[in-house]
Amino acid sequence: MEPIINTGNKKVYPMIYKPSPNSPDSINCFLLEDAYSLTLIDAGIGHPHYKQFFKEQLAAYGFQINDISQILLTHHHNDHTGMVNDILACKNIPVYASDKAVPRLSFEKDFLYQKIAFFEHLYTAYGVRHMEAAVKRMAKLQSTYEQYEHLKIQTIIQPLTQDSILGDFHIHYFPGHSPDSIAFYDKATKWLFAGDIIFSQGIPNALVDFDEQGAMLPTVQQQQSSFHTLQSFELSHVFAGHQPSFTNAKEVIEQSLRRMELKWQRIEQVLQQGMQTGYQLAQAVYGAKLEQAFIFVMSDIIGYTHYGEMQNKVSINKENEAWLFSERER
Ligand SMILES: [Zn+2]
Repeated sequence: MEPIINTGNKKVYPMIYKPSPNSPDSINCFLLEDAYSLTLIDAGIGHPHYKQFFKEQLAAYGFQINDISQILLTHHHNDHTGMVNDILACKNIPVYASDKAVPRLSFEKDFLYQKIAFFEHLYTAYGVRHMEAAVKRMAKLQSTYEQYEHLKIQTIIQPLTQDSILGDFHIHYFPGHSPDSIAFYDKATKWLFAGDIIFSQGIPNALVDFDEQGAMLPTVQQQQSSFHTLQSFELSHVFAGHQPSFTNAKEVIEQSLRRMELKWQRIEQVLQQGMQTGYQLAQAVYGAKLEQAFIFVMSDIIGYTHYGEMQNKVSINKENEAWLFSERER
């Protein structure tokens, strides 16, 4: 259990859900109370167990769903939006998120269609389209496309952009983990509600994603520059979307940058062994994890090879359907 944090007239009530008592990971959201409002920052996951937890934890703090006056989302992932429609069904309150989250949260048909085409092409290029995990992922994307009406957030999302202000919060884009990742910064308390941009242990995955034109985003580079931007913030307390909150931001940021460098080095080492397909590269770097954690492993392989290509350290032969990767001669 994390304690309630209290500064001046503001109070943060952590809602920390652990799938099992000893689980090192957690799904976090936070209630922020001031004199005028009760703000929910992120909204957990939509599983029945979680919904039960959410209501009990809210009651333990002396609140009920009707007390919540607005919802702020750090990004569109479903372990951050789970309770939104349940809350909206009780009470019509504003929901804020990045402008870039809007097509993702409203499950716009064109966007979903673009997503299917994007991953189809990418998994083929990386030689993993035949894998069972890839087939499952593509089927999941297809079923999301078919059920989008039920999945979308049932209100009009209020879009937030870089440098906009919402109450005492300054809004900052921190892309990398997802293109729509934003953080809510309170200058007076130096609190940062960071979602999945940084964790106390380990770095968030920089998940492969695409821009409005369907082009691949430089997610690894984005994550790296988001960490650099974070270094310029004065931070007293970082409330993260997973794992414990932390107060030693400086160290955590430095460690995150180091961990990125280590990831890159592991991939670079394998590339030095000669030309290979994306599948061979993923196998050599991650072994059995490729099948077990397919989406995350492939995000790393795709993201870091793209990063290497941009840095002129990796050459990618795109002549055939399945691309070939090698270290660039220097
Ligand atoms: Zn996330």
